[in-house]
Amino acid sequence: MKIGFIGLGAMGFPMARHLAREHEVIVWNRTREKAERHSREYGTKLAKDLADTAAADVIITMLPTSSEVDEIVDKLLPHVRRGTLWIDATSGDPNVSRETAKRLAAKGVDFVDAPVTGAIVGAENATLTIMIGGSKEAFERAKDVLRLNGKTIIHVGDIGAGHAIKVLTNSIMGATVWITSECMLLAKKLGIDIKTALAVTNAGSGRSNASENLLPMRLADGKWPLVFKLAHHDKDIRIAASLAHQQHASTPLLALTSQLYTASLNELGDKADYIEVAKIIAKMNNFEW
Ligand code: NDP
Repeated sequence: MKIGFIGLGAMGFPMARHLAREHEVIVWNRTREKAERHSREYGTKLAKDLADTAAADVIITMLPTSSEVDEIVDKLLPHVRRGTLWIDATSGDPNVSRETAKRLAAKGVDFVDAPVTGAIVGAENATLTIMIGGSKEAFERAKDVLRLNGKTIIHVGDIGAGHAIKVLTNSIMGATVWITSECMLLAKKLGIDIKTALAVTNAGSGRSNASENLLPMRLADGKWPLVFKLAHHDKDIRIAASLAHQQHASTPLLALTSQLYTASLNELGDKADYIEVAKIIAKMNNFEW
């Protein structure tokens, strides 16, 4: 099968590599050097231009937000072929995706939203969890491709459902990172060693992905790698908060989480990693990790 892969960022680069194990993958990236490197290292085909990817049976986008996906759809719409499947792996906005799907459907192109979770390590090891919104038939087609990227692939519902659950689950993570960082800071102020505080948390009811995997290296070991941009995480939580608003749902903690992440992004800038919100909590307390 021919796959056109658009967006070789932190996630897309390793995802496209795994697809090339079984398929002919045509890669396109805004910064062309990354696509050239991909082609060199993994034998993928370098797209001459964006339109080249429309020769594929399946087009995959892995971009920051639904806005960039829409820009790409605008540019590719004159070139796409009837019967193509468009898989949008971006963590996007379900409302935008439904409109995008309509535009593509008018050209005979099926669309699924297929955001992923599992971080860069999951993309590198092909162990992502992938949540898919779309028709049953399109889901089956997408699953047959994405099984090279993930272990758990779930059909969540109609178009937009994948994007919806993705932003909700990331909001849970965002709130958990925030409250766990606050409590670790408090533990330290109370004279308890952070490693000990995390060990107790991880052996008890406060345990989470944040306490087990995300915070120990940063708060206890002082390592702050950039693995997931705070700008992307803020976008996800903002989409979740806007979905709550549209549903007239009362979700005060989600609203507050969104506000806290946006404030952190404004303070830290778009080069920051998502766990650096813990630095904002430290700053609020005249404290250093
Ligand atoms: P990156 O910022 O590393 O990569 C973004 C990609 O999009 C790059 O290839 C970039 O090209 C391209 N791009 C940006 N703007 C445009 C544009 N205007 N037109 C065309 N291409 C553009 O992001 P990630 O790979 O980390 O994230 C991608 C998506 O996956 C996001 O929606 C994110 O929320 C989600 N995600 C990320 C995870 C992570 O741990 N990083 C985990 C799960 C989901 P260029 O190389 O030119 O900059």
